[in-house]
Amino acid sequence: MKHHPSYAVRPLLPVYPEPVDTPPAQRRWILVQDSSVLFRSEPAPGTVLMPDPLSAGLVCGAPVYLGTRDGFVYYVAEVSAGTTLPAGWQPAPVRELSGKVPEGDMAVASYAMRILDFDRSTAFCGRCGAATRPLTTERARACTACGRIVYPRISPAIVVLIKRGEEILLARSPHFTPGIFSVIAGFNEPGENLEQTVHREVAEEVEISVRDIRYFGSEPWPFPDSLMIGFIADHAGGEIRIDNQEIEAAGWFTREALPSLPPGKSISRALIEAWRRREI
Ligand SMILES: [Zn+2]
Repeated sequence: MKHHPSYAVRPLLPVYPEPVDTPPAQRRWILVQDSSVLFRSEPAPGTVLMPDPLSAGLVCGAPVYLGTRDGFVYYVAEVSAGTTLPAGWQPAPVRELSGKVPEGDMAVASYAMRILDFDRSTAFCGRCGAATRPLTTERARACTACGRIVYPRISPAIVVLIKRGEEILLARSPHFTPGIFSVIAGFNEPGENLEQTVHREVAEEVEISVRDIRYFGSEPWPFPDSLMIGFIADHAGGEIRIDNQEIEAAGWFTREALPSLPPGKSISRALIEAWRRREI
């Protein structure tokens, strides 16, 4: 099964040990203020990457090393609220940067937010409370007292397009924008493999069974820390029944009579579009 090309944008390579003595001209900064990323929309195509040296008077917190790409070394740092920003730069939540900066910048900005959050939220050991320090060999922090090591959390979740002849199953959660239907999705539970997650979520949400589960592709979804893994499956039996809590409506749809779909480049939408083009 080929990977879907929409998800080809890699954020940065986390090269370890962290490069030292990088000339300033080879450094790039992502700056964060109040959980928003600073970006510049002009000149087009816009960017979140601030060159080194930073503007005079811009005071940042301790830099956090992110990784490298194309000979540049990337860092994220926080600027305090109320700091006067360089001309043309403004803060925005990462999700709202879509369309304002290139996809590669979006990927780097999402990554930077995650790594900064990881550093902040694991500054102290969750077991003994002592301070932690970053490892020099990989993206992780170790407790200075008990040695416990923590890694950035990644939460796997499945999405599955279920086929029945010329139809697919789409459902809507009460949390969706009114009118929008999508494929079944749900989080992996400890101890489950992903196929078991697919079977369980489908049974819980629409009470049918599926067979012949095959891989479609995957997509990191950094709001906050999901990894979405996309599958295709065939209807094996049962009639749709919903609980009206997790799912408030569900049905079988043909290509000619699809409901409103999730916008943007989510893997759910990519699954539906690939089916619509008869690629899967
Ligand atoms: Zn500890």
